[in-house]
Amino acid sequence: MKLKRLRDAYADAFRSLDVDDDIEPCPDASVLVDSVRGRLGPATQDSVSEHLDRCPVCLEAYRLAVTSMRPVSSPSLPPG
Ligand SMILES: [Zn+2]
Repeated sequence: MKLKRLRDAYADAFRSLDVDDDIEPCPDASVLVDSVRGRLGPATQDSVSEHLDRCPVCLEAYRLAVTSMRPVSSPSLPPG
């Protein structure tokens, strides 16, 4: 898992999207990673899921995390 890469993508998304101020602060990328891994407690997992419903930036980061953590059986794409 390339957490740095996820963080970079996350930061890019924040720069390119206007996130609604009404929603709660975005969780750290590592929280999303823990969520994908199922390492969060039920309460935290709930709030993350709720946040993903409302925040396209985090949803995208979450999807990235899911994709990057899936076992890859085919050759991975070159970086870039
Ligand atoms: Zn968010």
